[in-house]
Amino acid sequence: MDAPELDYAIHTTIVTDDGPKHGWLEILGDRIVKLGNDDEHPSAKHVLEFDGYAYPGLIDTHNHVDWNTVSRWSAGHDWDNRYQWQEDDGYKSDVNSPHSDGISKNKNCIDSCKIEATEYGELRALTGGTTMIQSSFDNTFPQDLVIRQLGPNYKADAWTLNVGRIPDAFHESLLDGLKTGRLDRAFFHVAEGKREDSETESEFDTLRKDGFVRPGTVVIHGLGLDKTNFDEMKKNGMYLVWSPESNLNLYGETTDIKAAKEAGLTVALAPDWTITGSNNALEELNVASNYAKTNNLQNILTPKVLYNMVTSDAAEVAGVGNQLGHLAPNFGADVLLVQKHDSDPYNNLIQSNIGDVSLVFIKGKPLYGDESMLKPLAPNAESINIAGSHKALNTEATALKEPAAVLMDDLNKALPHLAPLHEGK
Ligand SMILES: [Zn+2]
Repeated sequence: MDAPELDYAIHTTIVTDDGPKHGWLEILGDRIVKLGNDDEHPSAKHVLEFDGYAYPGLIDTHNHVDWNTVSRWSAGHDWDNRYQWQEDDGYKSDVNSPHSDGISKNKNCIDSCKIEATEYGELRALTGGTTMIQSSFDNTFPQDLVIRQLGPNYKADAWTLNVGRIPDAFHESLLDGLKTGRLDRAFFHVAEGKREDSETESEFDTLRKDGFVRPGTVVIHGLGLDKTNFDEMKKNGMYLVWSPESNLNLYGETTDIKAAKEAGLTVALAPDWTITGSNNALEELNVASNYAKTNNLQNILTPKVLYNMVTSDAAEVAGVGNQLGHLAPNFGADVLLVQKHDSDPYNNLIQSNIGDVSLVFIKGKPLYGDESMLKPLAPNAESINIAGSHKALNTEATALKEPAAVLMDDLNKALPHLAPLHEGK
């Protein structure tokens, strides 16, 4: 019997685990089925010629998606730890109140403003090529635009507040989940503050006392951690998420990433949120590269290493390394097509901006991209102008119940000011 006809065959430069390869990226259903050679000319429902690069979709392992409706906050760079700025009057009036009154408590949106805010935050991430995001772990949320982690193959949970204050029942559920395999990953915000701050310094000890220095634990931030801590994490099968833009904005410093990489940790790079971090994962990649240059870390944080931090390593940190984060047969067809400006594919991605994001596939469906590329594939796609580029959203292929324009209208009414899809810093 003949193999079923492909859904998509994309002739392009495919960025594989072994480097760039020119050929055919072949998609059937929600899977990549083959990386074909140039001379194969496979038949498919849709054949695309793309003179750029195909990357795996970016994986964002640290975000607070529904907050990304609120405008960026000029925080000042000198906070000691996160508990300090969370009590600041300016933070409360400019960030916390709009979010709490406009989003959390507001019932004027189609379902609830929190769901619409999550969808909008996902849309912001999608414009930067993100195909999977750590969003809310509240399982009342639908799997909407980009959210993937609630599916049966994704077994993770998170505690976002102070690790010293995990309620007993939740503590037991997380620990038991990791021990029995019900969970693959448990994410904790740990040691977010200046390295010398006593609160920041003590949190890893709290995590250890709670029994979470163990396989499957993911430490988000870790500014207060040193080489000894990173060695202990590596030895115990733990992971790290690095969010430099938000760290540098709030504390004027960031994680000792050199020590973390030298300890052999698998590290993911992620934006935290748009309030003090980057607009999206693509922009965070650019921030990390600049950080490497200004701090003479280019031999450790090479373009390929940084690229892995938002693709294959991020997938491993998220617990989905055998399903996503690679362009290879049998992996999920989460694919990012980006224009080519540089002969090195990793440098190319680092230097790209949202205008260069040509097409994004999630689970084998083209969801977002240049109007000129998406509309032939999805004639009803909704036009979206972003940062001077004509883009489009294949709204019908998302779980949105309304056009993105209506979503934005609703949120504009709910909030004093809805943050734009892309904000200047
Ligand atoms: Zn965070």
